Amino acid sequence: MSHACPVQNCSSQVASHLYMCPRHWRMVPKPLQTAVYESYQKDGRVSVNHREAVRVVEAAEAGRSAIKLPPGTRALTIYQPWASLIMIGAKPYEFRRWDFSLLPALAKLVGQRIVIHASVRRPSLDELNDILDRIEQGESALKADLAEPLVRQMSAAVGAKVADLHMAPLGVALGTAVIGQPRRVVDIFKGAVADSDRLDEHMFGWPLASIEPFPQPVPAAGAQGFWSWS
Ligand SMILES: [Zn+2]
Repeated sequence: MSHACPVQNCSSQVASHLYMCPRHWRMVPKPLQTAVYESYQKDGRVSVNHREAVRVVEAAEAGRSAIKLPPGTRALTIYQPWASLIMIGAKPYEFRRWDFSLLPALAKLVGQRIVIHASVRRPSLDELNDILDRIEQGESALKADLAEPLVRQMSAAVGAKVADLHMAPLGVALGTAVIGQPRRVVDIFKGAVADSDRLDEHMFGWPLASIEPFPQPVPAAGAQGFWSWS
């Protein structure tokens, strides 16, 4: 037994014990997924929670199709608050342990526009306070005047166990940036930091510039490495 996914224009058939196709179900925020399960377990009926889940997914699909990006556009999933810091221009580099341009399949991404996607992972209060400490001590590669207010706001929200981190939302695509040729961290910060011995020789900075936020964050599941947006 199966049924059609209830999301508009979705042609997937869904097993009878599931409500939506897996791709659409992943777009439903966790608390709403739980509410759908709980109400269904109680009376075995499609409830207001089910309808809300469909509404959220259809809104996300509409947001996604309103954004016109060329086919083959790649996305990069980044933890918060780093993804939002990129979007406000406070973080000009994404630091990773590899240089994607050395892989033939990815070298063509240099100079291309990619989607910046915020991971579903909620940062801990310790992590956020550590970022604030580094900014204060001048040890951060962030643009302090832009970064500090956002990180402070997020730290307050995480400390107060606020569910909706609107200043740095989770599990959404935030916009696009043009990714540049990766550079070694030792070259980027040569002479710019007091103690260059502490720079990690194996780290690369991936430049992210020409930031363009989406009108609304677009819910998306995300993945490792560069994944296909369109
Ligand atoms: Zn579907």
